[in-house]
Amino acid sequence: MLVSGTVFCQNKDAYESVRNSMVDDQIAGRGISDQATLMAMRKVPRHLFVPATYAKEACSDRPLPIGFSQTISQPCVVAYMTELSRPAKGKIALEIGTGSGYQAAVLAEIVDTVYTIEIVPELAKEAATRLKILGYKNIIAKYGDGYKGWPEHGPFDIIIVTAAADHIPQPLKDQLAEGGRLVMPVGNPATVQELILLTRRKGKMTEQRLEPVRFVPLKRLR
Ligand code: SAH
Repeated sequence: MLVSGTVFCQNKDAYESVRNSMVDDQIAGRGISDQATLMAMRKVPRHLFVPATYAKEACSDRPLPIGFSQTISQPCVVAYMTELSRPAKGKIALEIGTGSGYQAAVLAEIVDTVYTIEIVPELAKEAATRLKILGYKNIIAKYGDGYKGWPEHGPFDIIIVTAAADHIPQPLKDQLAEGGRLVMPVGNPATVQELILLTRRKGKMTEQRLEPVRFVPLKRLR
């Protein structure tokens, strides 16, 4: 029993040491220091969020294709956006661009509830199934156009947009809670963008421009 139990654990998470090296080298090693973010990145089995053919490369320092011309972001970008959003117990988050569900899972390790919206129906379905199998009961995923946010569940303490546009959608600004933080790549969706951090304090919005990044474009449903 003990032997098979051990084997099962190894099989279940054969990538644990690879993931810990990813966090040490690419994430903590590049200045991410938020303990909750580091813990979540060590825990979430990233190899299960990429197509099986890429499992071995899941923890490499680059984005990977997830089908439908979309990508799962580079680990350090996920970590940076997560840290910027100041995740904590008691908070409610909204993510636009579920993709594989990885960013949602990282947030869900820390905050109370994550709402996430994906515009490609196949990806939305796949991610919802994956997150259910992995036991993430605090992630509510749906198919739809995230430009409009999810007003029924707002306001949100955290809004993370993982697709690029030339402006921050007004509905998302409107759904940001007092003291809330919105992180989004803003700029030319076809080339390079800047990561923007928008905060709301005493009703006043403040925008900070951070690192250059490259994300897939935020699409609209017609
Ligand atoms: N966060 C994802 C990766 C995001 S890739 C992960 O962790 O894997 C960007 C995703 O945003 C793509 O899946 C794309 O289909 C989706 N997307 C683009 N425009 C969108 C919109 N208007 N609403 C919701 N999702 C959108």
